[in-house]
Amino acid sequence: MSHIRESDRFETRAIHAGQEADAENGAIMTPVYFTSTYKQDAPAQPRQGYEYSRTSNPTRTALQENLASMEGGRWGLAFSSGLAATNALLDRLVPGDHVVAGNDLYGGTYRIFKRVFERYGIRFTFVDTTDAGQVERAIEPATKYVYIETPSNPLLRLTDIAAIAALTKRAKKLLVVDNTFATPYLQRPLALGADLVLHSLTKYLGGHSDVVGGALIGNDDKVRDELAFFQNAVGGTPGPMDCFLVMRGTKTLAIRMDRHGENALAIARTLEEHPLVERVHYPGLASHAQHALAKRQMKSFGGMVSFELRGGVAAGNAFASSTRLFTLAESLGGVESLVETPPSMTHASIPAETRRAAGLADGLVRLSVGIEHLDDLQADIAQALDKAREAAGELATRRA
Ligand SMILES: *Cc1c(COP(=O)(O)O)cnc(C)c1O
Repeated sequence: MSHIRESDRFETRAIHAGQEADAENGAIMTPVYFTSTYKQDAPAQPRQGYEYSRTSNPTRTALQENLASMEGGRWGLAFSSGLAATNALLDRLVPGDHVVAGNDLYGGTYRIFKRVFERYGIRFTFVDTTDAGQVERAIEPATKYVYIETPSNPLLRLTDIAAIAALTKRAKKLLVVDNTFATPYLQRPLALGADLVLHSLTKYLGGHSDVVGGALIGNDDKVRDELAFFQNAVGGTPGPMDCFLVMRGTKTLAIRMDRHGENALAIARTLEEHPLVERVHYPGLASHAQHALAKRQMKSFGGMVSFELRGGVAAGNAFASSTRLFTLAESLGGVESLVETPPSMTHASIPAETRRAAGLADGLVRLSVGIEHLDDLQADIAQALDKAREAAGELATRRA
């Protein structure tokens, strides 16, 4: 039925997969089906399987097919947020089950693990997933998932998906990859051996900072049916307008990611040369400890850059308060550039000592590099670095 072929490339599938012109009127765009229920021809005989929109809705079906095609999976399931997708994943587990997870996960993921599911007797072990040996040693008979995020936030550390997949296959455990930072255009975990991909659609897939959503994509139909049961039974589903907005976003994902990556690489290189910058974290830099893995595993390196300023929290805060185009805000992945200071914002709940031990310097700044003109972004960063230098200088003078 679909006009899409197996051989169609990513850019083509991102625009066409799941999106058929209307059979009756030819409308090119998927309608936003604002309906909660569907007329049945006879009792218990829904047309095309649609009964009630928590269970399924045609706009959501179109998005789910689109996401599955981009990730190279057999199926996709969409949720009201990335965390609702994580929730559905954990709903499959029962007390005593165990999860091996990365130790620098997205904060909300850590929170739902520790503060929601641990209360139900699910057990979590957090390890440095950049080291496959640590993952292997943490796996127990009761382990159900190995849950990784790559690149990680905010230090852009990478985990070798193929290496971890080889050992989860041997141990017969499911490997889940949160692919939010990379997107399927840059990295396809299923092709590297992962079992499930998780997304916050709120970030690059939506791409315009105007919608919150999540997704799970995979190949195993039995796992799909279980997850679809919880999607419906728990009810964390997206509305049709949200699904439409994400589909509008995915059509331009490829060109957006190309520009995000070009801008981010240029900015990372500039930052690396600046005397006030201690260290830059960007997988596209030759100085990144896992640059070789980045080149193997990713098509290019994405739009997230973090860097350490000499001068600690004061310098970081001065920088983040002085940018004109980089808006001071949490979140990431939209066309507009954002800046934040993890030590005082996204990662403030972690005690300072623990934070430093994990490699998060006090002067850490995180950029979500947008797709504005590079020259304007570079000029903005240059003037904000001047402000940060003044702040760091004042601090030094006061200490002396
Ligand atoms: C934002 C984010 C999430 C959570 O998604 P929401 O849509 O905010 O619920 C999960 N993982 C990563 C890497 C994220 O950036």
